[in-house]
Amino acid sequence: MKKVVFVDRDGTIIREPRDKQIDSLEKLEFIPGIVGGLKLLVDGGYTLVLVSNQDGLGSKHYPRKSYDLVQAKILRLLKGEGIVFEKVFVCPHVPQDNCDCRKPRLGLLKNYLKTNSIDLSGSFVLGDRETDVEFAHNLGVSSVRLSTAKRSAASFVAPDAVAACRYIARASRSASIKRTTKETDITASVALDGIGNHEISTGLNFFDHMLAQLARHSRIDIRLTAIGDIEVDAHHTVEDTAITLGEALRKALGDKRGIERFGFIAPLDEALAEVVLDLSGRSFLSFKCEFKRENIGDLPTELVEDFFKAFADGLGAAIHISCQGRNDHHKIEAIFKSTARALKQAVSIDGRARSALPSTKGRL
Ligand SMILES: [Mg+2]
Repeated sequence: MKKVVFVDRDGTIIREPRDKQIDSLEKLEFIPGIVGGLKLLVDGGYTLVLVSNQDGLGSKHYPRKSYDLVQAKILRLLKGEGIVFEKVFVCPHVPQDNCDCRKPRLGLLKNYLKTNSIDLSGSFVLGDRETDVEFAHNLGVSSVRLSTAKRSAASFVAPDAVAACRYIARASRSASIKRTTKETDITASVALDGIGNHEISTGLNFFDHMLAQLARHSRIDIRLTAIGDIEVDAHHTVEDTAITLGEALRKALGDKRGIERFGFIAPLDEALAEVVLDLSGRSFLSFKCEFKRENIGDLPTELVEDFFKAFADGLGAAIHISCQGRNDHHKIEAIFKSTARALKQAVSIDGRARSALPSTKGRL
């Protein structure tokens, strides 16, 4: 299933003049940042489809020839930057025609929607008007409105094209996993291209603190709620949280195209933690750390190794961890921080090989 961004033209890709008709090359002006923004979407694996209302196209006030000249120029320039639209849909009517193809109606796309397998939950409309937002609603996809409007029903309103496209691109490497067993009920959502935002609640304060380190230092946004039988023991909650979080990260990585894959980091204060990980698709944990204390806060120290074993399983990664130091709290925190930095590096997109798999096997 493909993820599609349905992109509006006038006011979104190019500036809309006062008379609303871009019928000459003198009137052609691109919205600042849109070319780089659309490239982000292409690199994020989205299919682009152009959907535009062109009032009265083909009439004597707006001849087809002048439209074609401008349209061809736009498409040619974008193609030169690696931005290609899979389809271009144009409604030539005016509102009074009451046609079924004018946005926000779906008539133009009837056939396209029927003959293509589209991941609606991962698709977007990008446009500058509230009718584009309505169009998204009718399609059943999210909407990003390029506007300074205070009131909008859009999923996200951005004042500039770069912010709008970044929002969509970021969503392309996001995932949620819900995992329920008789012992735990866990929901984890991650965004790999985040800024380290986190909302974490597991019922174990020290564990929450460690997971917050993981988000903060990897720059991966993590929303995680775990309701587990901690009155029995912390073990189920810690282990199942690790599996769920690992699976969410694995899902967000998709086919892993473009990622750096390996990551490592070493020292933090008197505690030296070294974490090396490989998002190989195969799970393995080497854990060379010893703790003197039985608990740190409400977290049994023996569960740290269990967490990383389950995390490696969920993520499909080989993880090598070693640490030394005096203070067990510092050592555990150093491990989580180092893991975060290793993850940050491993999930980053390699700018020189965006569409390549970092493997000679052809899959990861
Ligand atoms: Mg528009």
